[in-house]
Amino acid sequence: MLRRTKIVATLGPASDTEEDFNRLIEAGVDVVRMNFSHGDANDHRRRAKGIRTCASAHNRHIGVLGDLQGPKIRIERFEQGSIVLNEGDDFSFDVDCDSEGGDQNRVGVAYKGLPGDVRNGDTLLLDDGRLVFRVTRIKGSEIKCQVLVGGELFDNKGINRKGGGLSASALTGKDRQDIKLAAEIGVDYLAVSFPRNAADIDEARSLLRQAGGHGGIVAKIERTEAVDAIDEIIDVSDAVMIARGDLGVEIGDAQLPGVQKRVIRAARTHDRVVITATQMMESMVENQIPTRAEVFDVANAVLDGTDAVMLSAETATGKYPAKAVEAMDRICRGAEKHRLATTSNYRIDSTFKRADEAIAMAAMYTANHLGVRAIAALTESGSTPLWMSRISSGIPIFALTPHVETRRKVTLYRGVYPIEFQIPSADHAQVNKEAVDLLTKIGAVEKGDLLILTKGDLMGKHGGTNAMKIVHVGGLIDATDA
Ligand code: PGA
Ligand code: MN
Repeated sequence: MLRRTKIVATLGPASDTEEDFNRLIEAGVDVVRMNFSHGDANDHRRRAKGIRTCASAHNRHIGVLGDLQGPKIRIERFEQGSIVLNEGDDFSFDVDCDSEGGDQNRVGVAYKGLPGDVRNGDTLLLDDGRLVFRVTRIKGSEIKCQVLVGGELFDNKGINRKGGGLSASALTGKDRQDIKLAAEIGVDYLAVSFPRNAADIDEARSLLRQAGGHGGIVAKIERTEAVDAIDEIIDVSDAVMIARGDLGVEIGDAQLPGVQKRVIRAARTHDRVVITATQMMESMVENQIPTRAEVFDVANAVLDGTDAVMLSAETATGKYPAKAVEAMDRICRGAEKHRLATTSNYRIDSTFKRADEAIAMAAMYTANHLGVRAIAALTESGSTPLWMSRISSGIPIFALTPHVETRRKVTLYRGVYPIEFQIPSADHAQVNKEAVDLLTKIGAVEKGDLLILTKGDLMGKHGGTNAMKIVHVGGLIDATDA
């Protein structure tokens, strides 16, 4: 059985060599995330190239998602890479500290305005709230704090204020540079961090297009304002990410499960893709197996209807990147057997605006009720498989397309599997036959199975899907039939 839920893995020092890429691919990764908050341009170029080379060698398509740092305020670096703080320690964030010169007493912050933005008594949360500080005094460039919750503090970790409101406009100067890099690399998705509204997404999209990039835009839902504007943000985005790290710090962890369910539902209803992210397998940074709570978290996200689940530190800096992917793979497959994951009440009452959308819905309804083995959507832009994948189903949807961009884009869609397919001729019987042969060859269908094929009269045109055909594999395909 193919896994439907997609796995996004963040690349980092723990997943940086060709051997690491091969292991991740063999473990089942679908999309890799390059976190532009860490590493330099050459790291990202090299990783994108490396992952694509290894994917080709495995005959797989792997999407690349570039994730902008955004206006997140981060500490700079320690001389030793990290320090350990204990409850009650004094510690300062100092905007004048050397960027590489953090020590046991203080660390730098690149955002010079920070001392003006915080007040005595504020609570500062570091590393998604793992360490907690209370501001005791602000003195010039220095924010003096007392440690309330200690732990190991690593280079470049983020700072949030409890209650939100620290980070401002969505795209920084660095982000604008990184958008050019994203276009150069040819990322399949660009994630915008801390967007407040639809305008922030529109701006990122137009900058990416100006730079020549074709990728889809992912809105990271990680601040209070974005939750309030969720419908308008979803509307202008290709995908949303429930960025539970920063979001939990801003809205409070108790609000997270409800917001996760609401955002997944809203995204699916708007025909958009949704990624559930952060700390899904956090204990696997150190351990070879997940906790029971993590097993339930991943499974519940699958049952909520997420397209993809994401790994961050688990694959970027953890001890067992491939094992974390394998664990996710296993748990997703287990959850996908549940009735909640395969039955659909979706859009029972709604009407369709377009013929191609209606065909996609008809195909899924038929597939779910007729014992069909697989669906093959001949697609240009990937819209038909996207619509199909909004319907819960246990039946694989193969996106057959000549375009590499489309094949990489659908790596994120739940239940959709990209396959290269060059339209052999304008003759429909010939196309049907080649599509069936190809799916038989890869073992997706066998003699005696029913297969649904969707395509357009004018193959090779966007938005042209207007036909659905039920094929009996191994039976005669009527040569006169379109
Ligand atoms: P980050 O985003 O890993 O870039 O911070 C995800 C999150 O906040 O959950
Ligand atoms: Mn974040």
